[in-house]
Amino acid sequence: MNKVNVFWFRRDLRLEDNTGLYHALNSGLKVIPVFIFDTDILNQLEDRKDKRVDYIHQALQAIHKDLKKYNSGLYVYYGTPIEVFKKIIQDFNIDTVFSNRDYEPEAIQRDRQIADLLLKQHIQFRNFKDQVIFEKNNILKNDLSPYTVFTPYSKKWKENLKNIEIVPVNREGFANYEGPSAIISLKDIGFEKTDLDYAEPKLHKDIIDFYGEYRDFPAMDRTSHLGIALRFGTISIRECVQYAVKHNEVWLNELIWREFFMQILYHFPSVVHHCFKKKYENIVWRNDEKEFKAWCEGKTGYPIVDAGMRQLNETGFMHNRVRMITASFLTKHLLIDWRWGEAYFAGKLLDYDLAANNGNWQWAAGCGCDAAPYFRIFNPYEQTKKFDKDTQYIRKWLPEDYREEPIVEHTKARERALKAYKEALAE
Ligand code: FAD
Repeated sequence: MNKVNVFWFRRDLRLEDNTGLYHALNSGLKVIPVFIFDTDILNQLEDRKDKRVDYIHQALQAIHKDLKKYNSGLYVYYGTPIEVFKKIIQDFNIDTVFSNRDYEPEAIQRDRQIADLLLKQHIQFRNFKDQVIFEKNNILKNDLSPYTVFTPYSKKWKENLKNIEIVPVNREGFANYEGPSAIISLKDIGFEKTDLDYAEPKLHKDIIDFYGEYRDFPAMDRTSHLGIALRFGTISIRECVQYAVKHNEVWLNELIWREFFMQILYHFPSVVHHCFKKKYENIVWRNDEKEFKAWCEGKTGYPIVDAGMRQLNETGFMHNRVRMITASFLTKHLLIDWRWGEAYFAGKLLDYDLAANNGNWQWAAGCGCDAAPYFRIFNPYEQTKKFDKDTQYIRKWLPEDYREEPIVEHTKARERALKAYKEALAE
């Protein structure tokens, strides 16, 4: 059997401008492209009709179709990565496995296991930076410790930014033999088709150019909607940053927030379960289950909160301004643990990303690294006046017969939250 290399797709579901794939294709050996539907991840999903799984599946189909033009094809497996790699090792004579780095704690653990397995078979495992511009220790303070405050981090990030180069694809490097004729079906991995219609992601320049002016008004819906594409790598971060640097610094800053939270998760993996600021663990949450249910269902009696939750439930998306309002409402007005809200968003958001979701929830609850001060409690009515003054967003997402009574009174809830936070921080 001729020696080949393997490229393992993960959060980088594209052929263009893909660093690890570029290196694999220029390695001198033919490349077998592989994706694994990881049962460790899929089994945690509650809904068998999950749009994110469908999104991945459709993105893989697009890759497979493209590969067919080069007499290649995508090998899509289903199982735990370790079991799948045991099989791949038997099926091919592999020199090196190439992939792009992933910084989530469980992914790091998984990659260590795979590296061990491969090493025992004398197979190399090479990883590359691809889903971010700066990773791990690329941006550190002068004393070499990680940044925990966004503004100085972003300043250093921008100072370090050089010309961004888009990586070319050498398609001749794909294995020049049949490959599989089709990829595994959704049904075969235990999922159902949804109404999601995958289209190759594009930078909507008309939106990005005016991002600073319109991004805060949910009814206008003028943000990029690239979250899911950045999450699964169907668009390259280099393409986004290249455009942002030239055309819109406000949007660039959002892309830097993404990397900021990724490096926080990498350096402080305990944030997955704990407050970044330890003292906030003392907060005595009320955790009223009925109120949590009302929040989830968009029945709090606060129209902007309820509209946001209904947008999330119906579409898997919620505008950023409203994400902040609903998260503040849950943690402050209802005094419900931010981890409950985080988990709910994780189940629903199409653009769900551990680092961003966790970082933003901790920001909203006040316990994060560079969080909103705890006494800054969003007033949902004032927020509505500022950002949805004609209630166009609210009317879009609430039914005409919406008649919910507020489950808490704003001033009382505000005072209760201030008291609980103050007591926790005083201890
Ligand atoms: P745009 O506004 O066009 O921004 C472009 C991209 O920049 C986004 O797609 C995203 O990748 C990144 N970005 C923007 N804002 C942030 C931010 N505050 N933190 C980190 N990255 C950012 N974003 C996620 O990608 N996944 C999440 O799971 C997630 N959960 C959130 C939970 C809460 C409580 C809050 C307040 C925010 C959360 N965000 C999350 C951040 C932000 O709301 C979304 O990235 C944004 O609304 C997605 O819309 P868009 O793709 O149109 O982004």
